[in-house]
Amino acid sequence: MEITDIETIPLAHSLPAGEGLGDARGFGHDRATTLLRLETDTGLVGWGEAFAPGPIATATIETLFRDDVLGMDPYDVESLADRSYTDPYHFGGSVFVQSAVSAIDLACWDIIGKSVEKPVYKLLGGTERSSLTPYASTMYFTETDRPIAEPMREAVEEGFTAAKIKIGSNLEEDVERVRTAREVLGDDAHLMVDINGNYRADQAIRTAKAIEEYDITWMEEPVPPENLSGYRELKHQVDIPIAAGEAHFGRFEFKRLVGERLVDIVQPNLARCGGLSEARKIATLASTENIGVRPHIWNSGVGLAAAIQFAASVSDYPNTRNVPEPMMVEFDRSVNPLRHEILADPFDPTGGSLDVPQAPGLGIDVDESAVERYRADR
Ligand SMILES: [Mg+2]
Repeated sequence: MEITDIETIPLAHSLPAGEGLGDARGFGHDRATTLLRLETDTGLVGWGEAFAPGPIATATIETLFRDDVLGMDPYDVESLADRSYTDPYHFGGSVFVQSAVSAIDLACWDIIGKSVEKPVYKLLGGTERSSLTPYASTMYFTETDRPIAEPMREAVEEGFTAAKIKIGSNLEEDVERVRTAREVLGDDAHLMVDINGNYRADQAIRTAKAIEEYDITWMEEPVPPENLSGYRELKHQVDIPIAAGEAHFGRFEFKRLVGERLVDIVQPNLARCGGLSEARKIATLASTENIGVRPHIWNSGVGLAAAIQFAASVSDYPNTRNVPEPMMVEFDRSVNPLRHEILADPFDPTGGSLDVPQAPGLGIDVDESAVERYRADR
């Protein structure tokens, strides 16, 4: 089997003016990502995603990878990541190259699964669980003056038993947002907070100490991704588990987070970290230091599907029968048609549990007419 066609498809969707959503860093109106469609001489089609702007992902794939991918056997996918560091040598370790590699890797795994008629998670090490706990990413900073409790009430009505909220603007507001979220969610639900790297270590430590009483499952990106000394300081002074990884990529960056025990949980994004092949290596690294793995998902339906397959295969080590915290997967509750409209049968995270798809490959059927509707290059 060999790959005979490669196509990058930039997608975009914009929110109306005044309805931007955001985090402590600011508001966003545009959601953009890049799909990759591979086709083989056997007629199989595989889908991947690069968590990168369309023009950059397209130029990277076309310039650096097109010639190598055409004619490639999708089963040779695992050597792709290593080759990306050695050729192109001087910039292989850049985020855009690794996002491009991610897209190719996901599409190859989709094809491999389809060729052997197995869901990808079966090929990544097998079934660790057949259902996952979806968590609502919600309570964004908004441009409107909507009451902060409203989106959390909606999540609870939809049946979510876990949620992550944005904080990181200032100590007082952090406490108010966390207190409100906990009140609406109830005492038993998992509650996570995300600072999106908007604090210095001393600011994050003050917030952590102030919200500790609300039983926080993890504090995400308390300081910027490049501030490793900040993570080190937090780890020694904060009692809330620390999570990071959505802005990191490749086994070498994750090795530092894991090896120096700077975090308690790593969060690779499947469309940026290097794909499923690299995510599996990252999960293995994490297990050597007894660090948790929870995929970050801010993607289209394709990246979401890949994260679900990955999450189904990640070990609960060292937990055995008693698992204090379920494997949770992120479901952003903001408006984003790229997440559900491009899938013929979209994921339904409501009701507190999500069955892992059993269809071959990534387990999804991409609606190509919907993809055309959101194309940003036409
Ligand atoms: Mg985050």
